[in-house]
Amino acid sequence: MNNTNTNENIDYANNILIHIELMQKLIENRFYTSVLDNILDNIFDYIYNQNEFNESDIKVTLSSIDLKFFKNTNITKKTQKQYENLECSICLQKYNIDERIVILKCKHVLHYNCAYNWLCKEKVTCPVCRYDQRLNVIQE
Ligand SMILES: [Zn+2]
Ligand SMILES: [Zn+2]
Repeated sequence: MNNTNTNENIDYANNILIHIELMQKLIENRFYTSVLDNILDNIFDYIYNQNEFNESDIKVTLSSIDLKFFKNTNITKKTQKQYENLECSICLQKYNIDERIVILKCKHVLHYNCAYNWLCKEKVTCPVCRYDQRLNVIQE
């Protein structure tokens, strides 16, 4: 093995180590399976394609289980009045009777399915006020 090769191997090992440390950090913070999936994707991508590892490429989302811990309810005849002037900021539709809604940590409301598509697939922050919706994150 020549010197260049050794250096490459050290780089390679260091990079894997960075991934593992990041994973430990995430697990300590009770992060989410979806985040771990993303990190694993990243690691495999790095190993097989030698792509640059970029922490910002990791998408942080809630899992569908996390979403179940949010207060959620079906709109009823009785409760429709309090939501009639609001619209879901994901689909821009109003809330109708029998539709399931989620009340976020910041008290903003979204349709359950819209909240799923946003929080479990895109971002962990409220689309209205950007409040972090991760259950273990306390925000001032
Ligand atoms: Zn919606
Ligand atoms: Zn909000």
